[in-house]
Amino acid sequence: MSNCPSCSSNKVKKLWLLKKTDKFVILHCQNCDLCFKEDIYKDTTFNIQEGDYYLKKSTGNKVNERYKKHFSRRSKDHLEYIEKFIRGNYKKSVLDIGCGAGIFLSYLRTKGWKVEGLEPDPIMFDYAKNSLSLNVSNHYFEDWKSEEKYGLIYMSHILDDIPDIKKTLKEIYKKMDINGLLFIEVPNLSVKFRINFEKEAELKAGEYFFSKKSLTFLLEKNGFNIIDIKTFRLVHLNTILQKIMSPFAYIMKFQPKKFRPYLRVIAKKNE
Ligand SMILES: [Zn+2]
Repeated sequence: MSNCPSCSSNKVKKLWLLKKTDKFVILHCQNCDLCFKEDIYKDTTFNIQEGDYYLKKSTGNKVNERYKKHFSRRSKDHLEYIEKFIRGNYKKSVLDIGCGAGIFLSYLRTKGWKVEGLEPDPIMFDYAKNSLSLNVSNHYFEDWKSEEKYGLIYMSHILDDIPDIKKTLKEIYKKMDINGLLFIEVPNLSVKFRINFEKEAELKAGEYFFSKKSLTFLLEKNGFNIIDIKTFRLVHLNTILQKIMSPFAYIMKFQPKKFRPYLRVIAKKNE
């Protein structure tokens, strides 16, 4: 069995799943709580630059009105959250790793930020570059070279899909300004059983399945100080069904924190 990619422990156990799929085995580290796919099951034919990634994701695979509405709402919510942690002499420049169609960057640009993004998917990149005229590169973060330092490194639903997580965090650290902030949002899998209800496409795209404990461990181990970490539930009001269901969604907000479906963290460099 593979060692844990976060803490290198060999105390890993096969995660018990409801549906027995032979496509992948998910392992659980007994030391740092990270869940990850066993090496031999990593999908080697999966190519974001050929447009595979967004096609495999069941939602958000094309830039239509629903996509724009969803990501505009999310952008507003994320910036409001991030702004609470801005202190002192802060450089308002952002690098969005996996920026998709660039909705977040475009929103921050209207707020006076200097914006830059990386997006390997060709369709999303094309939209960000040509429809929104954003400063974006059609690259993976791992293959991209820059000496620039940023006030904000933003990774919304990306960290769980990145192959070499420790190397990536090391590079992120170098690209952060002295007062810089790192924003991460990922699905919350503090309750491991939930993995059973993840869509197959998400399981296929994901490399890691984080809990509050494993994400905290990973960041602290790689030189970051956590300023805030929380689980939460979003109430979407995009479709008619979501509007009808919204009172139930609000009630769900009172469920125990551990069960909330998303995990969000803001961290700074430990200097
Ligand atoms: Zn571990």
